[in-house]
Amino acid sequence: MIDISKFTYGRLKPLKFVYRSGTSYYWLVKCECGSETIISKSNMSRGQSECGRCSRKTSGKKRVVNHSFGHELKSTYYAMIYRCTSPLDRSFSRYGGRGIKVCEEWSDKEKGFKSFVNSMGNRPKGYTLDRIDVNGDYEPENCRWASRYTQNTNKQKQPRNVCFSGRKWAAYIVRDYKKHHLGTYNTESQALTASASAAEMYSQGITLTEIKKELKERIK
Ligand SMILES: [Zn+2]
Repeated sequence: MIDISKFTYGRLKPLKFVYRSGTSYYWLVKCECGSETIISKSNMSRGQSECGRCSRKTSGKKRVVNHSFGHELKSTYYAMIYRCTSPLDRSFSRYGGRGIKVCEEWSDKEKGFKSFVNSMGNRPKGYTLDRIDVNGDYEPENCRWASRYTQNTNKQKQPRNVCFSGRKWAAYIVRDYKKHHLGTYNTESQALTASASAAEMYSQGITLTEIKKELKERIK
């Protein structure tokens, strides 16, 4: 088990490891608001950055101000920060591990998130954060909101998470040590696209349930 007590995840500071359930490690964490709660490491790696009470407050505000602001963009933001800075992030090897950085302006602990929002604006529905040059850093000139289809034409080679089942191609991704089936497709390239999109969505903090739903929508 990895000691994450030296790290902070947004407003959350892990204090001590409490228990393990299956492959999930639960930590006692202290939120900046002062409350202590138990959260799994994987939820924090995926972008949970504040306690439940704070996120309810944020989403309460969100409804009044702007539906897709606050919390949703926060998880995109922190997912970007962690995959570039935290070796504990499961995507680290494809980002921080190969030298991809978040620019200084966006990494600033105090003003980084605000500046990221100012540069990028709101995320259009169904779009994810994309780098134009996949070997370039996360910085205003190299980032855009891209539809998941645009991204697929512009990505690093993903592992071939597909298999031929006699008549059709099945797509899957492996996460949390489990193989998650993503549906069957008529052609190999459709299955590869599905698997690659799933990996990208997952790295942006989108849950597997949502990913499967999204992929199902596309088949229709
Ligand atoms: Zn809190």
